[in-house]
Amino acid sequence: MSKDLSKKAAEMLLKGATLLSESCPYCKGVRVMKDGHALCISCGREPEKKDIPKNIPQQESKSTLKEILEKKMRVLSKELEQEKNHEKQQEILKSINSLLETMEKINKNP
Ligand SMILES: [Zn+2]
Repeated sequence: MSKDLSKKAAEMLLKGATLLSESCPYCKGVRVMKDGHALCISCGREPEKKDIPKNIPQQESKSTLKEILEKKMRVLSKELEQEKNHEKQQEILKSINSLLETMEKINKNP
């Protein structure tokens, strides 16, 4: 930590800045936040708010997976409908089956 940066950080903290729980995305250093303005006290970079990675809530990631599965299911149903080859039909059915199993698992653990 350079002297100038620690001085700046101390000044910011005195003015009511808070320590950020999320570390700097560049150097994993400690950052202080004031008025939506974050400053890393290790490397001095000021990444924009949108650069801070946000953890996707569990619920959201689950519904997304469900959406993907439902989408896949529609594609497979269409394929099955148009498929004339019996062997391929069986393959598609297998995929649909495993999709259904996965969907069931998701629904059982909300
Ligand atoms: Zn940094």
